[in-house]
Amino acid sequence: AFLPVLMIILLIPSVIEKVQVRQDNILIDINAGIRNKEFIPFYQGVYSIEQNRFVGVELLCRWNYKKQKILSPASFINILEDSGQINTVTLELLNQLAIDQELLDTINSEMYFSVNVTVNMLLDDNFVESVIQFLTQNPRLKNRITFELTERDKRFDYIADVKEAMCLLHSHSVKWALDDFGTGYSNFLTMHKLPIDIIKVDRMFISSKNDIISFDILTKIIDLLDTWKLPIIMEGVETEEELNKVKNLSIDLIQGYYFSKPLSVDDFIKYARS
Ligand code: C2E
Ligand code: CA
Ligand code: CA
Ligand code: CA
Repeated sequence: AFLPVLMIILLIPSVIEKVQVRQDNILIDINAGIRNKEFIPFYQGVYSIEQNRFVGVELLCRWNYKKQKILSPASFINILEDSGQINTVTLELLNQLAIDQELLDTINSEMYFSVNVTVNMLLDDNFVESVIQFLTQNPRLKNRITFELTERDKRFDYIADVKEAMCLLHSHSVKWALDDFGTGYSNFLTMHKLPIDIIKVDRMFISSKNDIISFDILTKIIDLLDTWKLPIIMEGVETEEELNKVKNLSIDLIQGYYFSKPLSVDDFIKYARS
């Protein structure tokens, strides 16, 4: 038994080294990517059944890796968040939005633009200041930006500071959406009276891949949300069958592949016009 154990012990440092090198490499790639503007927003429309048109878009980060292939957030967003580089990337997404706005406005000039942020970012005064500065420099985006905060964020224990940052940005016309509702700390909203303007219900409650129990839960969630009188967006509606369920619950706002996948600005414009 001695030999295998010895071999494992000898192997460990080289494994660690490899992981370390890969991690270093990706950080170098990310820094180069930020410099070369490889992080770009894709846009996914939010559709209103009542208005029969897109009333908003969510910016979803894509990495146009070495301008050769488009990577999805699953492969890099955690690294950006852990290293704090997400702050820079998010500001870059906002700058890109300021450029794309004119085109997006041709779809609906009242459309709102939704951006994902994390609790960590709100705890960083520099980030909050930069956003305020951005809004001052881009008055055309006043009242048009929504920030999405995910319920899954484990750092909601810093709730007083988070609330302070949310109120400050609120006073600068940023609206707040609570993302992935139903997946995490659902009762903090009522407990802490956060300035939430809109709720995004997580797609696991509508997915046909889940069983009927989820729909039952969804009905109860919608009842609960009705008492708060906040607009609701149903996330991840993919099929006609799922759409009908949502219509039965009189939910008006829908985001999902059924209406549109996340697309580059040009593809989204083409798609929304057709
Ligand atoms: P999220 O904020 O919940 O965004 C919705 C995700 O669901 C997106 O995945 C979107 O493409 C996907 N989705 C939309 N409709 C459907 C549908 O009908 N079916 C299915 N199966 N999926 C659908 P994506 O773009 O891969 O982003 C994943 C997550 O990465 C986001 O989840 C968000 O948490 C994070 N993320 C994306 N962009 C950013 C960003 O700029 N900053 C931060 N901090 N996080 C981001
Ligand atoms: Ca989101
Ligand atoms: Ca503070
Ligand atoms: Ca979500």
